[in-house]
Amino acid sequence: MLYNKTEAIVLGQNDFGEADKVVTFYTKEFGKLKAVAKGVRRIKSRFGSAMEPFSHDHLMLYMPRKRDLYIVTGSRIIRTHKELRENFDSFITGSYITELVNKLTEPEEPNGHLFSLILEAFHQIPKQDRDIIIVIFAIKFLADAGYKLNLEKCVFCEKPIPLSEQKKLSIQYGGILCAKCQFRDVQAMNVSSLTLRYLKRIGIVDLTKVGRINIEASIKNELKRIVHFYLSHHLPGRLKTEEFMEKLISSSTV
Ligand SMILES: [Zn+2]
Repeated sequence: MLYNKTEAIVLGQNDFGEADKVVTFYTKEFGKLKAVAKGVRRIKSRFGSAMEPFSHDHLMLYMPRKRDLYIVTGSRIIRTHKELRENFDSFITGSYITELVNKLTEPEEPNGHLFSLILEAFHQIPKQDRDIIIVIFAIKFLADAGYKLNLEKCVFCEKPIPLSEQKKLSIQYGGILCAKCQFRDVQAMNVSSLTLRYLKRIGIVDLTKVGRINIEASIKNELKRIVHFYLSHHLPGRLKTEEFMEKLISSSTV
């Protein structure tokens, strides 16, 4: 089959030739792939906003064998998600998510779970605090990619850790360490019981069913620090959006 239909989310795009773009999609049926959208930069393009970042479309693709670049032959928009492109904060959050997916997934490895998770996160962006949605997405995404943190018992001795005991989280070993085993990872981070509780809850929260989530600042900062280490451990290189966000924060505090 050279022609295929699929649902797709636009992760990013680059100019190609005079009027075309190479668009990176996360598709439901085939996972991440790149395809040329011909004539998309012309004013009267037949694609409309279907090739804009965050767009959720039905696509018709020409997928010849032995070629890594496919061609978009048709599209129909399911949701434009233009609210994410029209608000600066939402745009940054959406870009963080698409960049993460782009960097942490292999081409053409479909994952229906991840496809739904991206859409659920997009729908939550206008309703939630930027940091909270990033933390939730990253934790769920990494768990889905096989890097689930073990938060129930010590990753080394497998003993349950009493609530009163000071816990450390080892990103390297993928879970919490009891007092006896903490010497095994000098980089393990202190985590409060409350943060740990939030981490567990985030792992199971259904994004389609939550209202606005409020987490106090100290816990939010701890969660952000965990996600930062968690991502840098599994991600080669840093995210452009993350660097950009840091610059934004430091420039706003000067
Ligand atoms: Zn232990």
